[in-house]
Amino acid sequence: MISFTLKCEHNHTFDSWFQSAEAFDKLLTAGMITCSVCGALGVEKAVMAPRVHPARNVDKPVAGALSKPASPAEQALAEMRRLIEKNSEDVGEKFADEARKIHDGEAPERSIIGKAKPEEAKALIEEGIPVAPLPWGTKRRTN
Ligand SMILES: [Zn+2]
Repeated sequence: MISFTLKCEHNHTFDSWFQSAEAFDKLLTAGMITCSVCGALGVEKAVMAPRVHPARNVDKPVAGALSKPASPAEQALAEMRRLIEKNSEDVGEKFADEARKIHDGEAPERSIIGKAKPEEAKALIEEGIPVAPLPWGTKRRTN
């Protein structure tokens, strides 16, 4: 058995016992829970309820819920991506060749980004050429 403090749309609060949280949810969905003071159907949990709207409004979209600002981690990643892409040359499919040339001194030393097959990346690492996967996929630039 579990006890919930419930509140109706007229702000009456009352305690009710239920078999389980699931049983409460089923009864609520079925419209079987009414206010013990006024009999209203718009009843919700008064404590620990994650929302502030009466249950009958639950289908309405909550403004802003889907457009919350990016988390600090997402912002940091976006900033890192911006910096790396700004300071690196995108060599696309030639990444492995270009990385090897830079390592051998045949091409000017610079940061490059591009695509490498897993076996190419493995070969580069085995040759002691520092490569690292970017935390996002590389996309072909259209230019
Ligand atoms: Zn009531």
